[in-house]
Amino acid sequence: MPPTRPAELTPPASTAPKDVPKDAAKPVSGADSAKPEIPTPPPTPPGRPPELSGQAALALKVSPPDDTACRTRLKRLGVDFEPLPPIAEGQCTAPLPLKVTRFADGVALPQGATLTCRTAEALARWVTEVQAEADRILKHPLTGLELGGSYVCRGQNHDLDAKLSEHAFANAADIMGFTFAGRASIPVKTMAEGSDDAQFLAAVRGKACGFFRTVLGPGTNAAHANHFHLDERERNGGHRLCE
Ligand SMILES: [Zn+2]
Repeated sequence: MPPTRPAELTPPASTAPKDVPKDAAKPVSGADSAKPEIPTPPPTPPGRPPELSGQAALALKVSPPDDTACRTRLKRLGVDFEPLPPIAEGQCTAPLPLKVTRFADGVALPQGATLTCRTAEALARWVTEVQAEADRILKHPLTGLELGGSYVCRGQNHDLDAKLSEHAFANAADIMGFTFAGRASIPVKTMAEGSDDAQFLAAVRGKACGFFRTVLGPGTNAAHANHFHLDERERNGGHRLCE
């Protein structure tokens, strides 16, 4: 006698109601009675890979990069910030903006800045250099940055027809001036060479080129005569614009 088949190999008993009398479940309409019974949905063709289908492709394109590591670094740098809701105003977008209000050692941003984490990190690292230059050249500690603007939905140089500014992506900050303990503040502008103020501005402008891809200011053009524009615009081949 052969061994009995394991249970999992036994074909399942049919669930069809074989023994029900023909008239037990009489259809109410004649049309239904003619319809053949389809026990399972008809087979469907395999779906397209998710990365190729429209909605998913769109979602991939707009899904924000994970900036958890960046936020951790920002905290380690002693920056005070809080997450803001995603920005989407037409073409102006920032999926993960932060509100930055203070840097390490209490260096203030009185108006606060709306920035991507990457730009906030670049700014925070630059501020440590600004502090060092303030101590070295001015012998007075830096207490704050005067900010002109961070996130603004606009074209370059406020031209509506121009390519969107990095400000439109929370990738830029305009620095109008610097404040210190025990001395007058220093506005960003063209200054006669030789003064401590001029030396300080030249030094911090040069340092900014190590942290930002774009550094513009007095002398670049009329639109930048009274502030440093710092941004993280991506360029082909990692080209930087440091003027
Ligand atoms: Zn700017």
